[in-house]
Amino acid sequence: MLKLQNVHTYYGAIQALNDVSVEVNKGEIVTLIGANGAGKTTLLMTVCGSPRASSGTVTFLDEDITQKDTHTIMQRGIAISPEGRRVFPDLTVAENLKMGGFFLKRDEIEAGLNHVYTLFPRLKERANQRAGTMSGGEQQMLAIGRALMTKPQLLLLDEPTLGLAPLIIAQIFDIIRTIREEGVTVFLVEQNANKALQVADRGYVLETGKVVLADTGANLLLNDEVRKAYLGA
Ligand code: ATP
Repeated sequence: MLKLQNVHTYYGAIQALNDVSVEVNKGEIVTLIGANGAGKTTLLMTVCGSPRASSGTVTFLDEDITQKDTHTIMQRGIAISPEGRRVFPDLTVAENLKMGGFFLKRDEIEAGLNHVYTLFPRLKERANQRAGTMSGGEQQMLAIGRALMTKPQLLLLDEPTLGLAPLIIAQIFDIIRTIREEGVTVFLVEQNANKALQVADRGYVLETGKVVLADTGANLLLNDEVRKAYLGA
């Protein structure tokens, strides 16, 4: 479904991705783990076209999207829940969700809202609450809900559990499983390697902009290097 081939991405003179090749197949949950600054966010943002890969190719559903703009990429069926959630604090929950569907027609926005409210009853209860007054976990649900408004085929999740309490983290991982059961393919960036590898079919380990390991989630959980570096073993 999504394929990055030999992708290099730079911020000015700084190289953030170095010859990265990654694949996500339809129906999978694939996770990307790595230390701070390894380039995980850059990888997801490169898929979204901002920044663009300076060389290599990004293909989605067999179309080369490397040079497409972000808006077009979103219209092709990719959505992102960004790092730090980035909800609009002064807008209500419902208004935030509608922002996620800004390029949809009115009836599609209604359908999107109904879909998100079914998945997250808490967001329906809080539809008129200002997003900035919600808890961290609720804001994360809102960020994911907002990304789902366009009914994407591929959902990119950047650190959805960062800073959340263990009980809420478990809920977020349950939600990720449910989203996949609904037919959405998930590409998940996580610092919580243990939980991410448990939920993922496959995983990649990124170190200073390079993929250093790729395997099934189950195998990576047992891998000595992964255990030492990311699982505190
Ligand atoms: P974290 O988990 O801390 O968010 P990450 O693995 O997501 O880290 P990135 O945010 O992708 O890593 O950063 C990769 C590298 O690119 C880092 O060296 C970072 O300093 C650099 N970088 C990221 N964004 C920019 C930017 N806008 N301008 C310049 N350098 C950047």
